[in-house]
Amino acid sequence: MKRILITGAAGFLGSHLCDRFIKEGYHVIGMDNLITGRLSNIEHLFPLANFEFYNHDVSKFIHVPGELDYILHFASPASPIDYLKIPIQTLKVGSLGIHNCLGLAKAKNARVLIASTSEVYGDPTVHPQREDYWGNVNPIGPRGVYDEAKRFQEAMTMAYHTFHGLETRIVRIFNTYGPRMRLNDGRVLPAFIGQALRGEDLTIFGDGSQTRSFCYVDDLVEGIYRLLHSDYPYPVNVGNPDEITIKEFAEEIIQLTGTDQKIVYHELPKDDPKQRQPDITKAREILGWEPKIDRKEGLKRTYAYFCSLSQDELNKKEHNDFEKYTIK
Ligand code: UDP
Repeated sequence: MKRILITGAAGFLGSHLCDRFIKEGYHVIGMDNLITGRLSNIEHLFPLANFEFYNHDVSKFIHVPGELDYILHFASPASPIDYLKIPIQTLKVGSLGIHNCLGLAKAKNARVLIASTSEVYGDPTVHPQREDYWGNVNPIGPRGVYDEAKRFQEAMTMAYHTFHGLETRIVRIFNTYGPRMRLNDGRVLPAFIGQALRGEDLTIFGDGSQTRSFCYVDDLVEGIYRLLHSDYPYPVNVGNPDEITIKEFAEEIIQLTGTDQKIVYHELPKDDPKQRQPDITKAREILGWEPKIDRKEGLKRTYAYFCSLSQDELNKKEHNDFEKYTIK
């Protein structure tokens, strides 16, 4: 049985990856310090003999007994609100955390795949974004703690690949959505759906003309699974190129939820990228991958998940505190 360590296992993406690798017959070792992840995302795996969980901060030395074939480094705060609440941890998990993972991989002779991001392109001046675009990042802006941690993470990973000959893979993840997103993580989809379910107005930041391209989580997981098993060590964009303005997205959510709330406009956060769309030519050619689930279907499944949450969960006051944390 192949053994895989997944950091950030209790998070949105980490937990879906745990499910996938369990389904594929792996022994999965999940690790998370639960600052943004939640045990409820993985508790269904606890009874399984081929699942283990360690509550550990991967910015500190990582000890894992036994052999390891693969490491997926997915531990990181991942939403603009989180960067403001926990900026130093965001930097540490991307830098010290990946150093520990790479050291562990070297000791165990394991292959490492890191979660990089479209944020390495910053507020892009090239559209759509190809992997050979170097980006337009403000290192000292509010998003800098995430963007630079991820850029450092890519550099460190390539250094272990070229200097130590370690087997490494880099996925650049574009906006992803699906069940298990945190209602209060501040990102646009849980924000809008949460607002619709609580009967609040939908908050658009700026005039809503900025664009994003949303990928359903199952498609992303498939891309990651294929990349891990490929022999390609350079970054690969994985995302859905179907681009939409945030205003259109709000309208889709209004239609989906049937809410009669209106749209209200707030100040645009600093350094908010104006446009984002992955060029997935490489993923198509190298992995034979492209997204299969369109936004209509993906949103339907995601809405069903949010509807299944309890009223208590939905009404927690913290879901309304985005104003306090809006990046100015
Ligand atoms: N956004 C918005 N209203 C919200 C939350 C986010 O209009 O309540 C906007 C945000 O300013 C950005 C886009 O939606 O332009 C996507 O934001 P998100 O935080 O989901 O991800 P990212 O900016 O990292 O792509």
